[in-house]
Amino acid sequence: MRLANDFRFAYNKFTMQYSPTIGLEIHAELKTRTKMFCDSLNDPNEKHPNTNVCPVCLGHPGTLPTINKDAVRHVLKVGLALGGKINPVTKFDRKNYFYPDLPKGYQISQYDQPLVLGGTLNGVRITRVHLEEDTGTLIHHDNNDDNDRKNKSHSHGQKSSYSLVDYNRAGTPLMELVTEPDLKSAEEVVAFAKELQLILRYLGVSDADMEKGQMRIEANVSINMGTKTELKNINSFKFAKDAIEYEIKRQIEAMEGGHEIRQETRGWDEAKKKTVSQRSKEEAHDYRYFPEPDLPPFETGAFDLDKLRVEVPELPQAKRARFKEEYGIDEKKAMLLADDQKTAEFFEEYISELQSFLPGAKPGTGVDYILNDLRGLMAESGVNFADLKIEPEHIAHLEALIKKGTIGSRQAKDVLKKMFEIGADPEDIVRDEGLATVKDEGEIKSVIESVIVENPSAVADYKKGKAQALQFLVGKAMSKLKGRGDPGKLKEILEKALTQ
Ligand code: ADP
Ligand code: MG
Repeated sequence: MRLANDFRFAYNKFTMQYSPTIGLEIHAELKTRTKMFCDSLNDPNEKHPNTNVCPVCLGHPGTLPTINKDAVRHVLKVGLALGGKINPVTKFDRKNYFYPDLPKGYQISQYDQPLVLGGTLNGVRITRVHLEEDTGTLIHHDNNDDNDRKNKSHSHGQKSSYSLVDYNRAGTPLMELVTEPDLKSAEEVVAFAKELQLILRYLGVSDADMEKGQMRIEANVSINMGTKTELKNINSFKFAKDAIEYEIKRQIEAMEGGHEIRQETRGWDEAKKKTVSQRSKEEAHDYRYFPEPDLPPFETGAFDLDKLRVEVPELPQAKRARFKEEYGIDEKKAMLLADDQKTAEFFEEYISELQSFLPGAKPGTGVDYILNDLRGLMAESGVNFADLKIEPEHIAHLEALIKKGTIGSRQAKDVLKKMFEIGADPEDIVRDEGLATVKDEGEIKSVIESVIVENPSAVADYKKGKAQALQFLVGKAMSKLKGRGDPGKLKEILEKALTQ
């Protein structure tokens, strides 16, 4: 026995390569006015429990579902954006299981004829994208633990003295995207999920906020395509990375120790920073899928696919490539700009405005003002693009004022702040606040003369060859000019004055 184990250890250690394999199942709550199969509101911000409910989504006998066409359009758009094949005929199926978050006792989902087949994202093959309905939310009150635990998934067997259920979310449209096991690392998973999140936002089909449970990642992990475990309860990109890294390590260590990997569902326990077993394959459900008898199969051709295709906007990847190609923007800035559609739009308007101030100009400091200063000010004050006072034209004008030497970059920051507050044109702000760079040679010379008189030891140092002394004197002159000096000019005049 001992020998056998030792042998296996040696075999693993010296001849095995461990390559992780990961396949994803990602759910996203769709943005629609009403729920998937009834006209109850789909309002993820509703605070009062069991408000947006009706006999249909509560599963009362004798009610019939009707398909929300907007939800279908949303998934079709995702399919088109990912280059998937739109299934010509699609249907809904019942997935049966019993748990209190599911008022009907079954979930309407899609089994063998999903809306979308295939497609790719970040080089990962998409298996399918389908449409289903979300469950309600359970709130467990645990006697052993005074903190109410909100359990948004259907993990079973929680020890609790009583549970409350909120059906506001029950029956809201949910998209599920399944990938082939093409991912190799936690980093790749996070990059994939972030890109998908961005695409869903570009398409306007989901807010896909992980923290709010609007986008949920389930990761299937195996080593060398062996037995896989399924990771759940991942509600941030960081948890996704941590959970997958932990699981890969756990599986490799188990294999090294000669242990078998059990096929099971494991949840990420953020407090313990580990994945913990939730249920094994033996307990896995038999969902007894069958075609939804209340909804006949339907043809996707009825959804005007050509129109939907036109409605798919330029996607983030294409935008980044174009920004680099067309404007010479570097990779990092292209990423940041495309990470938010509104920022990208603002940026392109700025470039177009820039042409009227500096014809033929490539994007310059204005890009940094948008990416750093402007977005910083917006984040600080909670202002979004909709109620932003600064116009792209103002940023272009600010850049032109710096290029023409009207103001220095130090003043530009103050001007930008003021622009952000009042939304005025930078030229007006520069004039009203007296921020223009002092150009009057007479004024500059008299300032420099007084600096020389007031700082004899720095002057002596400079004359002994101490270079920093010049910088010190420039600083003194600059502060006399209240920051409105041109450092290059000051240096030049100082040097001249000191060598005379
Ligand atoms: P199941 O029948 O157990 O639900 P599927 O074949 O339908 O498994 O795949 C479900 C998910 O698991 C998909 O995202 C798929 O890419 C992934 N998957 C399948 N096999 C593996 C594997 N060996 N390692 C990692 N992920 C896998
Ligand atoms: Mg599902």
